[in-house]
Amino acid sequence: QTLRVAIMGLGGYGTRVAQSMQNCSRAKLVGVISGTPSKVTKWQADFGIPEKNCYNYDNFDAVKNNPDINAIYVCTPNAQHHGQVIRIAKAGKHAICEKPMAVSAKEAREMIDACDKAKVKLLIGYRMHFEPHTLEVIRMRKAGEFGQIRFFQGLCGFKTGDPKQWRLNKALSGGGSMMDIGIYALNGARYMVGEEPIWVTAQETKTDTVKFKDGIDETIQFQLGFPSGAVASCLSTYNVNNLDRFFLDGDKGFAEMLPSTNYGPINGRTHKGPINQPYTTHQTVQMDEFAAIIFDGKQPVIPVDGHEGLRDMKIIEAIYQACKTGKKVTLLA
Ligand code: NAD
Repeated sequence: QTLRVAIMGLGGYGTRVAQSMQNCSRAKLVGVISGTPSKVTKWQADFGIPEKNCYNYDNFDAVKNNPDINAIYVCTPNAQHHGQVIRIAKAGKHAICEKPMAVSAKEAREMIDACDKAKVKLLIGYRMHFEPHTLEVIRMRKAGEFGQIRFFQGLCGFKTGDPKQWRLNKALSGGGSMMDIGIYALNGARYMVGEEPIWVTAQETKTDTVKFKDGIDETIQFQLGFPSGAVASCLSTYNVNNLDRFFLDGDKGFAEMLPSTNYGPINGRTHKGPINQPYTTHQTVQMDEFAAIIFDGKQPVIPVDGHEGLRDMKIIEAIYQACKTGKKVTLLA
């Protein structure tokens, strides 16, 4: 069975997903949802999308009556994900949602509930969960090749450009670098260590209060503690370019990934030598895997469902709280 997808939000990432889906074997771009008619016309021409599968933000609930589309991929600004996913669920379509899945844990829970109620799947665009170098490090960790895991470091950042972009507008982004790029270090800490953190401490630094207004974090350093005693030390920033490195250390060995989460090629080495895995287009693999999860009930090595997204949202809230109070925040299971 083929996943027949409409993309909502025809911006930078939506375009990347659309292009990557051209090479999918089980997922196909068949529709669009956009507020900009000129983009719709261009996408129709570029991707052969029929008029009957084109919607805007006012009328997309009508997708309910369109059997040609069975999933909608939300690639809009973060604060819009919640309302849009709930409408998709009500229209009876599977929802694929970009990270961060929402701007709060409360919103994330409501999205999960809406999709459960409508009996549709909710999958979050965690493309690294299917990346071969990443999966090889996880395989080695599970096989005990690094011994007892003691430490993870995740460094993720880029320099934001245009001060007018939605990423720097709290009403649309829900937060700053932590929501956008720091989530990779956080999610990476969880899948690399293979445990859920039980506490967090965090510190915020801001060098430009004009560009990074209240509620938009420029740089956050955060630390996580895990049940085994392992710790993580991470940096999330909108003020350093090409910051993209993971380091996992255990009693018997280590893994280093550089780059660790960009579009690739991902490279890595361990105490045993280079990680030799195929280079992939993350979005192509992700969409084929999503089809297998939805239609065959396939279980991915690292989850990509709403609960996985919710865990990140809860920890991001704890990180923001720790920055504000200067105190260690305990995380409930
Ligand atoms: P973008 O600015 O390039 O595109 C956003 C799209 O949303 C545009 O087409 C824009 O027209 C549309 N939009 C609808 N309402 C809008 C509004 N009120 N204000 C601004 N734009 C509006 O952004 P992007 O980089 O494509 O990011 C979109 C989503 O994808 C975000 O949630 C982001 O976190 C996520 N993303 C994920 C990855 C990844 O690797 N998984 C990479 C980039 C972005």
